[in-house]
Amino acid sequence: MNDSLNDSLYTPDRDELAGLLEGEPRYRLDQVWAGLYTQLAAPADISNVPKALRERLATALPPALTQVVRRVSDGGDTVKYLWELHDGSRIETVLMLYPDRVTVCVSSQVGCAMGCGFCATGQAGFTRQLTVGEIVEQVVVSAREARTMGRRLGNVVFMGMGEPMANEAAVWGAVERFHGAVGMSARHLTISTVGIVPGIHKLAERPLPVNLAVSLHAANDELRNELVPINKRYPLDDLMAACSGYLAAKGRRVSFEWALIAGVNDRTRDAAELAKLTRRFRLPAHVNLIPLNPTPGYPTVGSSATKVREFCDTLIGLGVNATVRRNRGTDIDAACGQLAAGQPVAPPRTRSTPG
Ligand code: SAH
Ligand code: SF4
Repeated sequence: MNDSLNDSLYTPDRDELAGLLEGEPRYRLDQVWAGLYTQLAAPADISNVPKALRERLATALPPALTQVVRRVSDGGDTVKYLWELHDGSRIETVLMLYPDRVTVCVSSQVGCAMGCGFCATGQAGFTRQLTVGEIVEQVVVSAREARTMGRRLGNVVFMGMGEPMANEAAVWGAVERFHGAVGMSARHLTISTVGIVPGIHKLAERPLPVNLAVSLHAANDELRNELVPINKRYPLDDLMAACSGYLAAKGRRVSFEWALIAGVNDRTRDAAELAKLTRRFRLPAHVNLIPLNPTPGYPTVGSSATKVREFCDTLIGLGVNATVRRNRGTDIDAACGQLAAGQPVAPPRTRSTPG
């Protein structure tokens, strides 16, 4: 069997799965495909397939994810999974149940090479890329759990560990699977990027109009270079131009993430700068505000709830569409930027106060 397929039953695409089923009657492919993506069944449980074949598939392509820990918060509405992969690497997935929707936040890499100082994943550094199957399985397992609660998983956000646009091919492979096999609408799939400009261009050429979220956090290059080091390679003008290009290609509004850090990017002038930037690029953007969640390796704290509200009101007053995002799972380290999968993180760094 081809080694590159050999990590999860959710890695092969339809043609590759057909290859694995050589010698079987033609209709088996439809049965196994539906079993995996519609029934969300583990291979051993695909009900209408003979036992011998189920066993062969289960042995050939065992699950990629082994559950290490499953933690629950928000009265059962947030579930964080810690998984171990075949090579001993660990990743996390967060399932979030809201009254009107169910969303899963998936990891795209083991760790992250982008080095944003305020992010626990960034503090732990990069280990390796995830495969299509390792990404897809996070969603399938979460969808299975949602179903046991009588709910249907409808949204996937790539906001877990890693930088999706630094693993674009596998992320896109997973997106195609969510859309084509699981039957999710592209409007319910969101890719969050730190601002890898070639990745955004590539995404604009892809056939599905998925949501693009860009982690901005600062609206001038000096501060953004400090908060998000990759900004030195892809500065704001290039990033905003790429966002405009995405909007033009897809007709989908781009959203911006802004983690509010006390005294760093939560001042009135930061809001004014952000408003000016979106105006300059004629981006009818939506800004998601979130107070910075605490991480072990970053000394500065998140803005107070009052400050967050004030910042939001200032933006709205300046004509920018902004909302405050509710924080989920802070008590179980499942919130944005807190996912580190138990990796050691760098010791606290001191940061200079921006001018
Ligand atoms: N690498 C991608 C996606 C994963 S991070 C990206 O950076 O966009 C998901 C989101 O969490 C990003 O918006 C990121 O900026 C934000 N984030 C990281 N650390 C955070 C923290 N400590 N508190 C709040 N948000 C954080
Ligand atoms: Fe990587 Fe995103 Fe964390 Fe930055 S914020 S280190 S890009 S996961």
